[in-house]
Amino acid sequence: MTRYFWLREDETATARFSGSFDAAHAWGLPGVQCPGCGATWSSWGHHYPNVDLSQLPERREFENPRPEPFPVFARLRECVRPLAPPNVELPPGTALGPLEGRASGEFGPFTWQGTSLLLVRRDALERLQAAGVQGLLGCRTELRFRQKNPPALLDLQIEPRGRLHPDCIPPDVPPPCAICGRHAFSRPDEPILDAASLPGGLDLFRVGNFATMIIGTARLRDAVHSLELPGIAFRELLAR
Ligand SMILES: [Zn+2]
Repeated sequence: MTRYFWLREDETATARFSGSFDAAHAWGLPGVQCPGCGATWSSWGHHYPNVDLSQLPERREFENPRPEPFPVFARLRECVRPLAPPNVELPPGTALGPLEGRASGEFGPFTWQGTSLLLVRRDALERLQAAGVQGLLGCRTELRFRQKNPPALLDLQIEPRGRLHPDCIPPDVPPPCAICGRHAFSRPDEPILDAASLPGGLDLFRVGNFATMIIGTARLRDAVHSLELPGIAFRELLAR
């Protein structure tokens, strides 16, 4: 029986490192003004740093995304779909391409931005892969350092898989919008994973219907602990 853990920043551990960055992904899908549900919204947590739009004739339309009418959003999403992993949702606000910006200081093995973006030092990623952790995809970043010998920082492309258990969604929450897919509900205090939806052969993923939550298996946790890589706090979640 696989055990699953919710990964968040271990702030006590990351505070020991001076490293910081100010960066954003190169491209993004716009937010949407939906004619169906009436919401103007954008998602969080859907990041595909490995998706390269640099050869796309329309790439400039992805450079400063802001909310657009639904047909504009839908057209741009179709431009991206052939370049994205198969069967991913690509909601409004999906971030694409390498992180671009500035960075400085000394970086630990893991560096967070909020709850849902996780950078890993290349040496730490290689040690985790050598320990048998499955499904880690480290993507290049374009972070500019002033210092000599800057660290090799990679942006983990963590894809949405699995879902929160239906009991996590309050009964008064409307079903997903048939046009834009919006399904807005708060994160429950005690999240439960829907066991039947969870992926095999992947030790790190996001929750498909709550993409700001990053989930790892016991194999990932055990490898992080035995390699003594600081920066991640693990909280076990029930799956049923
Ligand atoms: Zn909608």
